[in-house]
Parts: sequence; structure tokens; C-alpha cells
Amino acid sequence: MSRTAFVTGVSGQDGGYLAEQLLGQGVQVHGLFRWPEQLTTFRTRFPDVQPHLGDLTNPTRMAALVAEIGPDEIYNLAGISSVAQSWADPVGTGRVSGLAAAGILHAAYQHKEATGQDVRVVQASSAEIFGNPVNSPQDESTPLAPITPYGAAKAYAHTMAGTFRSRELFAVSVVLYNHESPRRPPQFVTRKITQGAALIARGEQDELRLGNLDARRDWGWAPDYVDAMIRAARHDVAGDYVIATGRSHSVRDFVAAAFTRAGIDDWEKYVVVDPAFVRPVDAVELVGDSGKARRELGWTPTVDFDELVGRMVDADLR
Ligand code: GDP
Repeated sequence: MSRTAFVTGVSGQDGGYLAEQLLGQGVQVHGLFRWPEQLTTFRTRFPDVQPHLGDLTNPTRMAALVAEIGPDEIYNLAGISSVAQSWADPVGTGRVSGLAAAGILHAAYQHKEATGQDVRVVQASSAEIFGNPVNSPQDESTPLAPITPYGAAKAYAHTMAGTFRSRELFAVSVVLYNHESPRRPPQFVTRKITQGAALIARGEQDELRLGNLDARRDWGWAPDYVDAMIRAARHDVAGDYVIATGRSHSVRDFVAAAFTRAGIDDWEKYVVVDPAFVRPVDAVELVGDSGKARRELGWTPTVDFDELVGRMVDADLR
């Protein structure tokens, strides 16, 4: 019998890749939308996803939707995705990226109790829950110590997944390190760089203004991270999984690689450090140890740093 999945945040980068992978497996995919406007563009790209309107932060609506859809798998990807933006709206970030996860987990638990269906919840967590970690690389045992409203909200949701697991709901938290693709919006530094490098190479832009070039991140290929979510949902036991490549690079490394790919060797001439993009608080280095996911889920990242940069720059040059 075919499986049914309910995806929140289906219109984002990860939601799109997840919908594609699930539909490719014959899974019936239901997606949550906050606003009717989002639906129009989404429908042309994903006519096979069944859309539902609803506010993720409304637990009554979420419980009704879960009862109506009867999903085997729920992927909670919705949230404020920008760390920088979370300082502008810490309360909204807490509600959407934190508290709403409790609503989803509770709805899944209630549905399981009422029907006996083995509902499985995958919470998309983030490396930001570790803040400025003392140990490197981080793994599932690294203490939670967020330093941004985004990280704090995600830490709450991560903890709630564990809380519901102790109540025998199959609840997974995948601690996702930065994962990128040509579908990444330019609010994220990777796409901002690849778009900037492409425009400069084509003579359509003079400079690229960035913040901290020394920050180091573990950047992977978004579709690989979605594959990890599906594997975690189908595994025989629920748990937390760090999903990362295990290699970090600086923003400067990313800039150099992107400009070289776009045919520019002297990137320093074009990049301006603008204090407006330097964050008040920023993790220095995040790098993850995905050993547990590799061992238990058979997961492995398929795209390395140079290939990732290359794919993103090539897409922007096109
Ligand atoms: P995040 O790790 O989820 O916050 O992903 P981002 O892509 O937004 O940021 C990654 C790193 O790049 C952070 O350490 C930022 O401080 C750094 N960074 C440097 N310049 C910029 C910039 O112009 N925009 C963004 N978004 N990040 C920047």
C-alpha cells in the first residue's frame, strides 16, 4: 500500500527536493501552505502535491489536518530559515521554528493514539542548536547551547522531538548542517556569492558586499540532506542524527572557489566587507560528525565542496 507524507515548509528549498524524492517513490505527498498566493506558483511546479492551507502555529488546525490526511510520515521543515532574520523577530521565530513543532508532535501523537497508525515525525533541526561549540566536530552528544533566537527555537523543537520519543512516538530530529543548492535564496551567503560572482563575470555587477569572511561552515548538497530525512523516517528506531559532510570551509574559501569557477582569479578586487552584513553574534565554526547516520542509516553525502560550488555557479551563469 502506498505511503502518505505530510510536509510543512514544502515551498522551500528542502521541501521541493523532498517532494520530488517522495513523489518519485510513489508516496502521496500533502503540503502545508500558509498563504493562498504561495499555492499558485507551487502548483505549476508540483501539480502532484496535494496542498492544504493552514497556520503551522495553530495546534487545532494542525491536529485537524493530521487527522484528515492520516500521514505515515510528517516532515516538519517549516520555519524562519534565516539566522540573521531571527534577531529582527525573536518572538515570531520562537513560535514558528520552536513552539509549532510541539503542535505537530502532539497532533501526531494524538492521531497515533486514536487510530493506531504508526505516524513518524521528522523534525528538521539545525547545527545552530550548538551555538559556539567547544568540541569539533559536533555529534549527537554535543550539548545544546544556542547563541541566536533561531538556534534557541530549533533547540526547543529538537528537545520536544526527544520528549515525544520518550512517550513512544516515532520522532526523529535531523540536525542539519548548512545545505545548499541552486534553489537557495540569496539571503544565504552561498547563493549570494554564486549569484554575485556570475553577475560580475558577465559585467552586470561591480562588487559584492559581504559580512564576516572568516566564519566557517560545513556546507553540503541539499538533496543529500533530504535523502537523510527519508532514511531516518523509515529506520527501525527513532533517534537524533547529525547530518553533515564533516568538512568546514570559510566564507572566504567559498568566495575564492566561486569566483574561480566564474573565471575570475582576483576576487579581492570585487569583494567589499560591509559591517551591515556582519552579525552581532555568529558561530565561528560549525562542522558535524555524521558517523551515526552513516552507520545506522547508510547515509553518505554525494557532493563535495568544489562540486557544490561548481553546480551553484554554473546554474547562476546560465
Ligand atoms: P547560516 O549559517 O544558516 O546563518 O547561513 P548563512 O548562509 O546565512 O550564513 C553563513 C555564514 O556566512 C555566517 O557565519 C554569516 O555570518 C556569514 N556571512 C558573511 N557574509 C554574509 C552575507 O553577506 N550574508 C549572509 N547571509 N551571511 C554572511
